[in-house]
Amino acid sequence: MSQEIRSDVVIVGAGFAGLHMLHQLRGLGFSARVIEAASDVGGVWYWNRYPGARCDVESLQYSYSFCSDLEQSWNWTEKYAAQPEILRYIEHVASRFDLRREITFNTRVLSAIFNDRLSEWCLQTDSGLTFRSQYCVMATGALSVPRLPDLPGIENFEGPIYHTGAWPREGVDLRGKRVGVIGTGSSGIQAIPVIARQAKKVSVFQRTANFVIPAHNGPLEDEAQVAWKSNYADHRARAKEVGTLYEFSAKSALATPTAERVAEYERRWQKGGVNFVHAFNDLMIDKAANDTISDFVRHKIRQIVKNPVVADSLCPTDHPLGTKRICVDTGYFETFNRDNVELVDLKKTPVRELSGNAVVTTQKAHEIDLLVCATGYDALTGAVLNIDIQGLQGQTLKEKWAQGPRTYLGLMTQAFPNLFFITGAGSPSVLVNMIVGIEHHVAWICDALQYLKAQGFNCMEASKDAENNWVEHVNQAANKTLLPLANSWFLGANIPGKPRVFMPYVAKIGLYRKECQNIADQGYQGFKLSTS
Ligand code: FAD
Ligand code: NAP
Repeated sequence: MSQEIRSDVVIVGAGFAGLHMLHQLRGLGFSARVIEAASDVGGVWYWNRYPGARCDVESLQYSYSFCSDLEQSWNWTEKYAAQPEILRYIEHVASRFDLRREITFNTRVLSAIFNDRLSEWCLQTDSGLTFRSQYCVMATGALSVPRLPDLPGIENFEGPIYHTGAWPREGVDLRGKRVGVIGTGSSGIQAIPVIARQAKKVSVFQRTANFVIPAHNGPLEDEAQVAWKSNYADHRARAKEVGTLYEFSAKSALATPTAERVAEYERRWQKGGVNFVHAFNDLMIDKAANDTISDFVRHKIRQIVKNPVVADSLCPTDHPLGTKRICVDTGYFETFNRDNVELVDLKKTPVRELSGNAVVTTQKAHEIDLLVCATGYDALTGAVLNIDIQGLQGQTLKEKWAQGPRTYLGLMTQAFPNLFFITGAGSPSVLVNMIVGIEHHVAWICDALQYLKAQGFNCMEASKDAENNWVEHVNQAANKTLLPLANSWFLGANIPGKPRVFMPYVAKIGLYRKECQNIADQGYQGFKLSTS
């Protein structure tokens, strides 16, 4: 007999977002239940156990701000924490706030259907459990649906295939192995140097070269940590305005004399990290300005990589720097100077097929023992659209979003009452420090639920006009920048058949927060509030 679980709110996903949502709702007296496909908490940090996985926002910033005692008592060991440490942190949070008792693990949500008459959500899962609630929060992650490459013959490959986003918990022994790595985005760029140190041979199959900035990672000295913590409240307040505390320049690259401009790029290159791309304020809006920073990085690649043919292949030429998510590395380009690493430039020699134990290109068969796919995700919409979500009168989200996601503030979509998204399409989401975005959305949803309760409402829905205006606003914001120029996952370009729509909202998080707050202050303008 199938079992039913009832709560005020049901939350899908137990990553940073779902855990925080649960904790905050509990504090407000709402009953809540979390459903998670994995066997434990962590989300991205549970699934991405590939060698070299780590954050590229400094650990002291890539962490929760909601509990001062937590942020003071947790000590990070590295500037950019590695996956095991981030996972330990999330597990610690789950234990410290006793969150697991309201999480159902090893359970995947298959459908979420709104009952118009009862005004409640009903979620069916693969374990047969049914969850019913007034409100439903999708904390399903922007980068949680791994995508394997659709290469001819992949199903016939004789060796194991591992996706970085679904790495085995027990690890993979790479010693003495010939490893193929396909994909050179952030995941591949982190994994390749570490794999190269373990494996006998590594063949890197690159379709598109990427801009990569050195992390200059290292141990986080006690002194630096103590100093940061002594000012944590100020740092967090600033992060609410800017996302991550980078050095944002107010100067134009084109208006700056060449020698001064190059010196600034060099200074930031030596410092490392994503801070590099904020060297001037016109880099992401003016192609000529962007050319100056792109040229600087191409020059660096040619200096680092000894073989000029390999260096040439590693130089990105088909998109302006920063229009694909910038990558941060530890020894990526240097890895191509190793004797056991070969670069296979798929632009010159495309893959014909996978056959037996080889990746066969138009040039030759590259024999490998196992294949690592660092081939990315069905980003932003993949996880929600994997669930059969039905709103008013049985309307499906898949139909509604067939031409691209449509939301109001990234938080709700018309015809799907009481359904919230955390860091969804139409919000700054993946363009900012995601913990800052998550905490903002959780707070906004909590305020909205409290408001509904206080006013005697139990139903909230985005209006059609508000949603149309917001979608238009999000498109306009993206089109003012160079971002739509690249074939990136921001646009869904990595998924065949996915509508080409720039999904995140390009805005300073501080500005977006104000927009959301103003709407709340005006009695949730653009939302229909009612009593069912
Ligand atoms: P997730 O962590 O993705 O959690 C979503 C959870 O929902 C998953 O556990 C999934 O199993 C579950 N789920 C999904 N669908 C279902 C379903 N149907 N049923 C049940 N459960 C379901 N962001 C940064 O800001 N800085 C970084 O440095 C950074 N580094 C990253 C490194 C990697 C390798 C990756 C992949 C992403 C990184 N990100 C980074 C982005 C990252 O997505 C966010 O920072 C953050 O971890 C997202 O948390 P979340 O809870 O929203 O989603
Ligand atoms: P990604 O950026 O989408 O990169 C996927 C790579 O696989 C690209 O190089 C892509 O080439 C290649 N690829 C895909 N299909 C292919 C095919 N059929 N044949 C050949 N190559 C193929 O994915 P990701 O590296 O996993 O990163 C996703 C996002 O997760 C990042 O942008 C970032 O937001 C987050 N992340 C962050 C970190 C971090 O440093 N903190 C680490 C990992 C991930 P094309 O470019 O040609 O499509």
